[in-house]
Amino acid sequence: MRIGIDLGGTKTEFLAMGPGGADLWRKRVPTARDHDGTVRMIAELVREAETATGAPGSVGLAIPGSETAAGTIKNANSTWLIGKPLRADLRAALGREIRLANDANCFALSEASDGAAAGAGVVFGVITGTGVGGGIVVDGKVLVGAHGIGGEWGHIPLPAMTDAERADSRACYCGKRDCLETWVAGPFVEREFARLTGRALPLADIAASDGMEERATVTRLIDRLARGMATMVNILDPDVIVLGGGVSNIARLYDDLPPLVETYGFTLGGPPKIVKNRHGDSSGVRGAAWLWPA
Ligand SMILES: [Zn+2]
Repeated sequence: MRIGIDLGGTKTEFLAMGPGGADLWRKRVPTARDHDGTVRMIAELVREAETATGAPGSVGLAIPGSETAAGTIKNANSTWLIGKPLRADLRAALGREIRLANDANCFALSEASDGAAAGAGVVFGVITGTGVGGGIVVDGKVLVGAHGIGGEWGHIPLPAMTDAERADSRACYCGKRDCLETWVAGPFVEREFARLTGRALPLADIAASDGMEERATVTRLIDRLARGMATMVNILDPDVIVLGGGVSNIARLYDDLPPLVETYGFTLGGPPKIVKNRHGDSSGVRGAAWLWPA
């Protein structure tokens, strides 16, 4: 049995997964707001999962951040985890090795294991919602990278910026300018729409509307996504690109994006395979469970 844990900013989800990916037991609890409380909460719920299923499990954890070479947490928006040796403390509390990965990597691993990209060799998993994240899985293994940022395409600069885009240059929280995230993440798309039209609408409503301004906004979003994706495709040449996050619910993406990525990309000879995720919000917890082999 594999136990997957998705440590979110407000809720933490636990899943005991049987062979073949079956859901055996699930629980969702409020996230503890300090490091020691987080370790205690996880240890308690892992024991509860094992009692409920009557079997010991491997433990994998999806975190909103990554681990430094020294084994401490960095880049987490759950700031109480930063600088703390989470994995070592959990190892001590649970008496076993645990694995952890950032949530975008878990998303990619979940979809590559038994999701929309099951069986594919090179999988690029993309989360585009309030922010932009990404993860790369090669032959069933997450490509973490030397500094834990493998696949984090949200902070490449928007390629081939137009004059209008250059005139609208944007600052990113990371300290750089015009990161892809500042052009395709939901809040930025909504802000641009409001500025151009004087109307404030959530992205889901913009995407669902047939209005001319709404359609133009989605067209711009898809074009910008395609430019960023072509850059990744030129390097990775993935078998499948899986989309997640709020933006992945825009139906037009799956028709309009592949030919555009082909146009911007390097001699692909055909549109890349771009699909919607299969496991939705469960991808974090499922990918965490899949961090351990059978
Ligand atoms: Zn950035």
